[in-house]
Amino acid sequence: MTKYKKLLTAMLLSAIILSASGCEISENVPAINSSSESSSMAEESSLPEEPAIEEPVVEEPLPEPVFVLSSNEVQRGSYLMIRAENIDLSGFSFTDFLGYNREFIATEGGWLCFVPVKMDTEPGSFELSFASEGFEFSETITVTDREINTQYLTVAPSTLEETLEDEAVRAAFDKFFQKYRWYETGVKFWEGEFVLPLGDYVYKETTPYGTFRTFSNGNTEWHNATDMAAKGGTPVYATNSGVILFADYLGLTGNTVIINHGFGVLSWHYHLKELDVSTGETVEKGDLIGKVGTTGLSTGNHLHFGITVGGMFVDPMQMVGAEPEIDFWKESEE
Ligand SMILES: [Zn+2]
Repeated sequence: MTKYKKLLTAMLLSAIILSASGCEISENVPAINSSSESSSMAEESSLPEEPAIEEPVVEEPLPEPVFVLSSNEVQRGSYLMIRAENIDLSGFSFTDFLGYNREFIATEGGWLCFVPVKMDTEPGSFELSFASEGFEFSETITVTDREINTQYLTVAPSTLEETLEDEAVRAAFDKFFQKYRWYETGVKFWEGEFVLPLGDYVYKETTPYGTFRTFSNGNTEWHNATDMAAKGGTPVYATNSGVILFADYLGLTGNTVIINHGFGVLSWHYHLKELDVSTGETVEKGDLIGKVGTTGLSTGNHLHFGITVGGMFVDPMQMVGAEPEIDFWKESEE
């Protein structure tokens, strides 16, 4: 016990004695200190009080950043989503497990990031991780297999010469693809499920997404879309609402239309006979955008229908009849 506390205890004791007896200060009450001639309540109150313990100002703790992953398992040719809340991720980017740069999109009440897994990814375990000041995220992802089809495609030599074997045509396509694949403006245009671009018209799926194709000149490619053979002139409809990002002719893909559905989701349509939209135009789901044809590197009337998410082609037929469940984390809370 400190000297000070002893003194205080003595004071308190005398105060209790005084109030209990109700009498005047008597000689029996020990002097509090040597300088006191006598003791009184007035004197007592003038003595230093025990310093008040300052109550710390309790501030509401800032909510912790929250990151939610849509799943720890993904099939190659599909995608994952990460949702973030209670944090500002503007300007933040990270490298995903396939080596691609990823950014978050500002959405209502939080942030969203698509992590697509391209179809030629070897199945296995991967670490999806990133960190910055005040947060870190790390999850193990299992990439599962998908069926791979193979195809040998005989193409007329004159068509090959004008397309695959023409360096300028290929370079123009690469430039075009790199320009548009990452397109994202932070606005969501799609509404509800994506629909078949050929509506109720009869078609035959001739080359599914994820086919490893060998051309008759020996060239190979991963077919990253679904080919739908249909009669020339069959109407092609917008698979969902959006803005026409590109509507023009390219040597490799013929008459080509890209629709921007927002949040980095684009649909790609090749080999059209006619274009019924122009760049910059807004389309509603089901609007006519063109007609089936066989322009560019094509061996017959068909629609080449592709969908990119975050810059990667994913299985478009998994998207038809569905839509990216960007509210997935809400379900996980229930
Ligand atoms: Zn195709």
